[in-house]
Amino acid sequence: MPSPLRFLLPVLAATAAAAAPAPAGVGVTPPRDVIIFIADGWGFAHVAAAGLYAHGRAGGFVWDGFPARLSMTTGSRGADGPVTDSAAAATAMSTGCKSRNGALGIDATGDRAEHLLEVARQSGRATGVVTTVPLCHATPAGFVVHAPSRDDYAGIAREMLESTGLAVIMGGGHPWFDRDGARRDRPRTFRFVGGESLWDSLAAGLAGNDADGDGTRDLWTLVDTRDGFRALREGVAPRRVLGVAPVAETLQQERQGDTDAAPYAAPLTATVPDLATMALGALNVLDADPDGLALVIEGGAVDWAGHDQQSGRMIEELLAFHDAVAEVLAWLDRTGRREAALVIVTGDHETGGLELAANAGARSRAGRLPAMRWTSTGHTASPVPFFATGPGSEDFTARGRAADGSPGTIIDNTDLGGVVKRLLR
Ligand SMILES: [Zn+2]
Repeated sequence: MPSPLRFLLPVLAATAAAAAPAPAGVGVTPPRDVIIFIADGWGFAHVAAAGLYAHGRAGGFVWDGFPARLSMTTGSRGADGPVTDSAAAATAMSTGCKSRNGALGIDATGDRAEHLLEVARQSGRATGVVTTVPLCHATPAGFVVHAPSRDDYAGIAREMLESTGLAVIMGGGHPWFDRDGARRDRPRTFRFVGGESLWDSLAAGLAGNDADGDGTRDLWTLVDTRDGFRALREGVAPRRVLGVAPVAETLQQERQGDTDAAPYAAPLTATVPDLATMALGALNVLDADPDGLALVIEGGAVDWAGHDQQSGRMIEELLAFHDAVAEVLAWLDRTGRREAALVIVTGDHETGGLELAANAGARSRAGRLPAMRWTSTGHTASPVPFFATGPGSEDFTARGRAADGSPGTIIDNTDLGGVVKRLLR
């Protein structure tokens, strides 16, 4: 049935993509810290809808003040290629190479492609990944492993835990908890934590490889309680932390209750840490390294809510993601690291073909769901918002192009990997 509403997504996109003037990135001091936020499945309409709900207007987020505000294309294999999945998108952002859907850390010809976190590690920086979905899911894995298929969760988790130099891995996928954070009588699956025997040695504090090349094994400290995550934010942290939130797969999006209701109509699961808490814990582990840090933080269930066309829960996930960005920026200010930090906030692809009513802004007030229309249950080729601040952010603005190739506000997801890898070397 045709909708009686007119839709204005392109107008919102054009507004959000207006770029500030910036100098060319020549002779700029490289960043010490690099923090990359990925909202899996966000688009311009998702951000506008969350803004309308939270603030009564399409903006009001901390990233609106970033100097680089662009649109990013996401197609896999080529800039005009097929609609991407999260594996190819993460690979493009991490390595600067297009790949085929499903592939992690390998290029379109099947060759191993170098991750920006590997470059960061080689430069001496401490590295980590944090997500709201299973820790070995396509986005964190696409920044870490080299594997032909995203579906081999146990193998990917083993590679992350036993063959990388990461100091932090955090996400969902706990074998012993259900989707509401209740302890189960029997384990659900061990595949997200690398299988039962690896889980047993992680729980015993006996798992880990030589992450720093000094010839001795660096064991993982397992954190899997809300209070454990909270305690991690301050004081002396363990040197290497695996954080598994006590929930089946994702922090909040799959919890019980009416999934078509407004945000927070069903109370949040109180025993699960939020993304901001996890991010601050990760930073407190990584900041011990004098050479700096590189961290990827994913709001993974924006995409899951989009596939299920859950307007309220998508907004919950996007606002939790924004809280994490705001808390990390405040941490950078508090610790005196802000000026030397490159912070990027973007998404890997749009999910749901979301559109907003043309008069959504005029009719909205904070606390009320705006009129939203989902036109797909999958991913789309729509460009996604891209924001960056700190040393190197001007390099992205300088790469912006219009459709005809003249200077403009569109970059490609391979620009992210290309620019960051160069800055980290
Ligand atoms: Zn998806």
